[in-house]
Amino acid sequence: MLKIENLHVSVAGKEILKGLTLELTPGQVHAVMGPNGAGKSTLGNVLAGREGYEVTAGTVTFEGQDLLALEPEERAATGVFLAFQYPVEIPGVNNTYFLRSALNAQRKARGESELDSMQFLKLVREKLAVLHLKDELLHRGVNEGFSGGEKKRNEIFQLALLEPKLAILDETDSGLDIDALKAVADGVNALRSPDRAFLVITHYQRLLDYIKPDVVHVLADGRIVETGGPELALELEQHGYAWVKERITPAA
Ligand code: ADP
Ligand code: MG
Ligand code: MG
Repeated sequence: MLKIENLHVSVAGKEILKGLTLELTPGQVHAVMGPNGAGKSTLGNVLAGREGYEVTAGTVTFEGQDLLALEPEERAATGVFLAFQYPVEIPGVNNTYFLRSALNAQRKARGESELDSMQFLKLVREKLAVLHLKDELLHRGVNEGFSGGEKKRNEIFQLALLEPKLAILDETDSGLDIDALKAVADGVNALRSPDRAFLVITHYQRLLDYIKPDVVHVLADGRIVETGGPELALELEQHGYAWVKERITPAA
């Protein structure tokens, strides 16, 4: 589904990703862990097509398509979702209205008909039920005064509405409390399906106590230096990232 090969990415003239290779198949949850500054968020951002990330070498294909050739909106339309896509507060803009606009923009890009308010509300009710969420966040301004946990719940709700094939969640720098972690984990677990993949980027092993990943990758110094099963996250927890740094072999 997602195939990243020998990806090199520079930010502001500095090489951050230095030959990253990773493959994701549908139905799987992959975790990317690594020390601060390793390039985890850079990976998420470059996949989402954010500005300021220069790909200097390598390829990214999503379902056989060159993902890097697509605009961010086109990536979303093909089914790639990056959480924190809309982290900003937009006071006065009703969250329901905002979510419907986001969904309809995606439907339009796919050549599907837009949903009217009634159809959208029906969908909203279905998704709220799946996630065991209340509708209180929908009536407020977008992220307006939301706590960290509420922002997370809202993002997971976006994810449920947009039904991406590949969801990328970067949790690293958000200082999540335990409620927020659980909100993310419950959402991911409820939305796992055979035709959807998750790339969960996290600094913290504790998130993986709630989301059981199929595969764990360790990202250090711009490369995947280790790939394994869920036990790899526990090893990291035990030995810390110093253990990883010892294992990085200098590039030839
Ligand atoms: P991680 O998410 O693993 O902590 P990041 O991908 O955020 O790492 O950052 C990797 C490196 O890239 C860091 O050294 C960081 O300082 C640098 N970096 C990230 N974004 C920028 C930017 N916009 N300008 C300059 N340097 C950046
Ligand atoms: Mg960081
Ligand atoms: Mg980060």
